[in-house]
Amino acid sequence: MTLTNASQVPFVDLSSQHQPIQAELMATVQAVLDQGDFILGKALSEFETAFAAACQVEYGIGVACGTDAIALGLQACGIEAGDEVILPANTFVATLIGILRAGAKPILVDCDPTTALIDLAAAEAAITPQTKAIVPVHLYGQMVSPSALRQLAQRHGLIIFEDAAQAHLAEREGDRAGSVGTAAAFSFYPSKNLGALGDGGILVTSTATVAEKARSLRNYGATRKYFHTEAGGTNSRLDTLQAAALQIKLPYLEQWNQARYQAAQYYHQRLQQLEDFGVFPIVNQAGTGHVYHLFVVRLTAVSDRQPLQSALAAQGIQTGIHYPLPCHLQPAFRDLGYSAGEFPQAERLCEEILSLPMYPGLTFAQIDRVVDALQAQLESAKPASRQPLKASP
Ligand SMILES: *Cc1c(COP(=O)(O)O)cnc(C)c1O
Repeated sequence: MTLTNASQVPFVDLSSQHQPIQAELMATVQAVLDQGDFILGKALSEFETAFAAACQVEYGIGVACGTDAIALGLQACGIEAGDEVILPANTFVATLIGILRAGAKPILVDCDPTTALIDLAAAEAAITPQTKAIVPVHLYGQMVSPSALRQLAQRHGLIIFEDAAQAHLAEREGDRAGSVGTAAAFSFYPSKNLGALGDGGILVTSTATVAEKARSLRNYGATRKYFHTEAGGTNSRLDTLQAAALQIKLPYLEQWNQARYQAAQYYHQRLQQLEDFGVFPIVNQAGTGHVYHLFVVRLTAVSDRQPLQSALAAQGIQTGIHYPLPCHLQPAFRDLGYSAGEFPQAERLCEEILSLPMYPGLTFAQIDRVVDALQAQLESAKPASRQPLKASP
């Protein structure tokens, strides 16, 4: 671990990731230029095969973004208008948008406040005869328990469709993210654990019929050129150029995830000293299988995070909030009929969470700076803004 550049702590640093492999990336871009197969080209099918294998599933279908992987993936699994699909209230809105675009009715449920993952008891309570699928979100890089998911799905005959956009190569109970249910969606948004040089996504599945239907849906619903069998089709293909860049980056993913894990371990160790200030990291129940897309803490004794974030930013330390408003309180989705107070754990979590810098290449010295600055800030906070505190649940 070096001390260089420890004074600035960006939230993510993509240039440090790309700099060591720049020559490889440039060469692969040149190869696609030479080949000229920009749409559904050779590098795309090669990457689809490689990524599916990394997820321990049979098929990969590259699409334009993670949101499309959810929408087209659910359609490919047979989800249609009138079907109810369960998802957690505390996710990125893309999960909800994907479900809506598949034509289904989203059913939001609350989360476990210590792990921030979907509360499966709440999910079970929300099941009706119309419920067709559950979309667990492996939030922040930690998988929802595969065994608990499978038991729930089996009891009620539900399709499991994983939103694995934050969980590339994550594992739990011996299962890889993407291999738990009928199909799964990944995003290659640049700052995800595996990111493209732009937008991208993939659907993975081991079910041949689902793969076949998804391939058609992403390509105008065509099964062969100018012969269209799926009315729900659209244009959503992962560019050959993006697939080529992703193919270069894929072999590094495991070591990048390991670097994230080591950074997280050091955060956990250092943050113990901030428990008295009400700082509690989101609990890891997945052990070494957690891929820490984000490192999130709960600030249970801070009533307003904004001054804290500003003070850290003034010292060159960037933080984020993932996400400040749960899905059911977003103005765009008022029509779904939910109201404030409906999902108390998700709502409270949204008010407490703070995402600290996390990326492969983040040094222990930088983590020290973050934790020390956070501590100094909490110590200087006026007692009035701190509520008396009992430890986390
Ligand atoms: C990033 C993300 C998505 C959407 O992926 P895009 O590629 O941005 O469309 C979906 N769900 C979750 C949980 C995400 O983090």
